Parts: sequence; structure tokens; C-alpha cells
Amino acid sequence: TEADSNETDTILHTWLEHYRPYTTNGRCAAYIPALAQVDPSQLGVTIIGPDGKLAKSGDCDALFTLQSVSKVIGFIAACVEHGSAYVLERVDVEPTGDAFNSIVRLEVHKPGKPFNPMINAGAITVSSLLGGKSPQQKIDSILAFIEKMVGRRVSINEEVYQSEWQTADRNRSLAYYLKGTGFLESSVEDALEVYLKECSIEVNTQDIAMIGLVLAHDGYHPLRKEQLFPKEVAKLAKALMVTCGMYNASGKFAAFIGVPAKSGVSGGIMAAVPSHASSPGAPFPAGCGIGIYGPAIDEYGNSVAGGMLLKHIAKEWDFNIF
Ligand code: GLN
Repeated sequence: TEADSNETDTILHTWLEHYRPYTTNGRCAAYIPALAQVDPSQLGVTIIGPDGKLAKSGDCDALFTLQSVSKVIGFIAACVEHGSAYVLERVDVEPTGDAFNSIVRLEVHKPGKPFNPMINAGAITVSSLLGGKSPQQKIDSILAFIEKMVGRRVSINEEVYQSEWQTADRNRSLAYYLKGTGFLESSVEDALEVYLKECSIEVNTQDIAMIGLVLAHDGYHPLRKEQLFPKEVAKLAKALMVTCGMYNASGKFAAFIGVPAKSGVSGGIMAAVPSHASSPGAPFPAGCGIGIYGPAIDEYGNSVAGGMLLKHIAKEWDFNIF
């Protein structure tokens, strides 16, 4: 009912404002200059239930770039294009415990094979596998795929993209290494263009909540009533989110929050609460998506207040999948 819905918004609002002061414990990512300019005190959340029920609070409509949240989308799109077996020959599904942009393990483990698609090395590899001949076609197919999930056309923030391109030395070195070991299927420059454009796609919390919702339903869009990608691919993506989605804080997220989630350095967190989680009394009973934005991030690259808010929501509404 509407009264219940208002009550849920009020509760969510109380929680959100409780955690907003903790944004001062983090900092906006500074290595991408365009990200350093945003207001670090922002915090917003949107939750969408299987029937389309919506709860929002705070800076839920603020626009931000996907950054590493795009790694999940790219991985799914590559699996749809080639089948997951093909993709998994080029990128593994093991957590690293290293930073998201680390290069160190590329030389250690089946030389050159990235540990997982949720770190930069893996995501750059996946970017080279996407369907389409040119970088533009690959990006267009990603944008179309996102449109199907979120229900609106999203676009690239050119300023962020330029800022990333100009400061991509580290990603460029990863890409050259991957090219040298034969894991990259396109040129270095093409893979980087696709990867960095994908990172620069601009969304709000509702958009990523919607993608989380589709993942929660194993690739089925409960509002469009359409299977958008295979169940098996959704399961893989969620397993990767749990084990690798929050970079080298993924263990802590699994242990203390227990919801498949993916973060990005712009401060976004996309979470998928599978339909078997949550208690009977929760206002979002089963299979919901959560989108959070809080640009002040910690040393791992995860939104500080966003993570705290997600932890609180998961605890109160029994979203922990374990
Ligand atoms: N575009 C960013 C990078 O490649 C994405 C990283 C992230 O969100 N962790 O460094």
C-alpha cells in the first residue's frame, strides 16, 4: 500500500542520513581528475522490488559514471556473445586479494591470464571480446544492452572519458602485457577505448538498481517479463560479485554484508539480492536490486558510507545470502 511505501521511504531516509556523516571518512578518487571534482558528501540509494516497487532516498538521482560496475555488464555481454566457456578460457574466476589495478599476478598464474573479470586486467581482456567490429560498435552494443535492462538510454560522460584516457598509463601497461601474452583479442588501443568508455557511462542509482534486479532474477527482467541473458551467466556474474566484486575487500563484504555487489571508484555500488534471500516481513521480500552512490571511497576503492548503508539494509531486512 501507499502507506507502507511511505513508511519504507522514511526508514530508508533515516538510515541514509545516519550514515551520511561517514562520507568524511573517505575521499573522491583523485587519480581520474574528473572524479575528484564531485561533492564527497553525496549519498543516495534506490531499491527496486520484483513488482517494480521503488524506494529511494538522498542523492538517488545524482549522475555518476559506472566505472568498475561496468565490469559485470561487459562480462555478461561477452558471455552472451561467445558463450561463457570461451570467455573463461581468457579470464579466470579467482579472487586476487590485490588492488583492482594490480599487474603483479599476470606473470605468476598461467602467465598472462587475468585472475577474474572484476579487476582491470580481466575487464580489459573482456572488452576486447565484446561483439562488434570497431570500438564504437562494441560500445553501442553495451549501451543497447544497458538500455534493455534499465529502460532508458544512457550515454557516455565525455569529460570523464577524456580524463580517464589521458591518465590511463597503468591500464595501458596492463593492456600491453595482455597483448604480449596473447589474451587480448583486439589492439591495445581498441581494448582501452572500449574499456574506458564503458567505465564512463553515466547512470543514477535507479539504473544500477535495475541491473541488480535483473541479476537477482537470474537474467530475467521481472518488469519487462523477458529473459535478457542466460541464467547460467547470471549465476557466474553473481558468484564473481561475491568473491571479487568489492576488490580486495570482497572477503569482508561477503562476511559482514553477504550480498552480491559490485563497486566502482566513482562511488557506485550495485547489489543483487537473490530471490531466496530476505525475511518474510521485509518491505522488499525477494529478488530486489539495490543501487547506491556515495563518491567518498576508502583505500580499496569502495564507497565508505555506501558500504555502511548497504550493510545496515542487509542486516535489517535479512538480505544476507548466507
Ligand atoms: N576506470 C577505472 C580504472 O580503470 C575503473 C576502476 C574502478 O572503478 N575500480 O582505473
